[in-house]
Amino acid sequence: MAERITLPTHGSYPPQPRGFDLLRLPGLRHFLRWKHARLVFQLPLLLLALFVIVDGLTGRQLAPRNFATTATWLHYRGLVVVALAVAGNAFCAGCPLMLTRRPANFLKRMLGREFRWPKALKSKWLVGFLLLAVFFSYEAFNLWASPWLTAWLAIAYFAGALAIDAFFPKGTFCKYVCPLGNFNFMFASISPTQVTATDTSICDSCSEKPCLHGRESYADPTRASGDLAFIPLSSVTHANGEGQFPGCETNLMVPTMTGNMDCTSCMNCVRACPYDNVSITVRSPARELLARAWDRRWGLPLMTVATAMLYWGLLNAMAMVPPFYDVAEWLSRTLTTRNETLLLGVIFAGITVLGLVVSLAAAVASDAVGGKGVHPRAAIMRWGYVFVALGFGFWAAHYLFHFLTGAASIWPVTQHFFEWRGFDVDPNWRIARFIPSSWLFPTAAAVSGAYALLASYVTIRIALRDFGRKAALAMWPMLLFVLAITAFQVVVLALPMEMRGTILGPTL
Ligand code: SF4
Ligand code: SF4
Repeated sequence: MAERITLPTHGSYPPQPRGFDLLRLPGLRHFLRWKHARLVFQLPLLLLALFVIVDGLTGRQLAPRNFATTATWLHYRGLVVVALAVAGNAFCAGCPLMLTRRPANFLKRMLGREFRWPKALKSKWLVGFLLLAVFFSYEAFNLWASPWLTAWLAIAYFAGALAIDAFFPKGTFCKYVCPLGNFNFMFASISPTQVTATDTSICDSCSEKPCLHGRESYADPTRASGDLAFIPLSSVTHANGEGQFPGCETNLMVPTMTGNMDCTSCMNCVRACPYDNVSITVRSPARELLARAWDRRWGLPLMTVATAMLYWGLLNAMAMVPPFYDVAEWLSRTLTTRNETLLLGVIFAGITVLGLVVSLAAAVASDAVGGKGVHPRAAIMRWGYVFVALGFGFWAAHYLFHFLTGAASIWPVTQHFFEWRGFDVDPNWRIARFIPSSWLFPTAAAVSGAYALLASYVTIRIALRDFGRKAALAMWPMLLFVLAITAFQVVVLALPMEMRGTILGPTL
């Protein structure tokens, strides 16, 4: 039985964006209504995942020559940020992990019961911890340099999705566990599209809310399983007439959505809504950041994790530049240890705490000079969206930098996959770069700068929204913070990125 949630009273839906509906593009609505539409995106990504696992486990253990390390750390990450910036959460839409759903359902039937996800884990704290664990492991175990470990990471993702969905309700893995999915959910807040209700007055009279609960419609009502909302065929004004159409696995009801958080772009709602009342609406990238969307969904835990993501992004890039080795060396002498895992742990903890404190201080300062007193929770929930824009800008700049340095290498790496297995192919290793080297830094800096402008715009709009005549005062601490962080980001991007062996540097 689909999990039920409390519905709002009729007519109390929050405002949604009203831009162009992408489903009006010729053929798109028709295609997305097709029940196998998601499979069209999942199968190529499943094939890529299989290449990653096979080459990672059995291929040549040289990172730039192996499909696992290049496809995962160069191509996948680069394309994820491009998709988020220009379209939306496209990679969750094509997520091959969801192909474990059938075996998970089979295991669930064998178990004969479904467990409840523990109440204590129904927040974004676990996701924050798992994201930190992934970023830490990336540095501590040099994942980028190990095809074998990268393959095992992919296997762990598949095994985790299968196990969680076998024991717990559908959507649990996506919402409460998956670090990749939650990276996408958080940064889809700056995406220029959102799932919306086309006409909320139709939702008012839609008592069963099939976009949430799913729908089954048959000419013969006795065929209904009772697991989904039954909508008589005579009421369905949709090309998907008869059949079963699952609802939203992450418990979103379309007319109540104020943003993209938890939306996997699965398009179940498009298929389930009996009245063709779901749109994919084009919106401003600032819209969700200004809608206080996370006040109503996840609150402080999510905002804390999203703020920390700004600093984990910086750390992820800083660990590749020479000054990082100097800091590690100084820390090593101070703590009198050469244990790299311990040193990394101290650096991660230090930067996370320092970053959260500095961000909180900027938010509280803006509130205080704007006359709202010192209320840390209220301040971070008001201004935290500025950190999200800055965080995405840096992740995007960094990942794009690497993607552009080696995007075309997917071709010789694929050739090498077959050459390694005895096929008569001769990889052309000179193919790699998409743009000249001299364009790399300006491109990355421009991306970082563009999102700094977005963060500044969001700061000004928040100040105007919440501080009335004191808006001009309230915005300054945050604007100075945006300027300082952006300058720091550009300096990090300008430093030469090194091939890393150990965090204490190759000479020690
Ligand atoms: S199923 Fe369609 S009409 Fe009903 S609430 Fe959802 S979007 Fe609105
Ligand atoms: S069913 Fe839910 S997760 Fe899927 S696209 Fe619709 S709102 Fe997003």
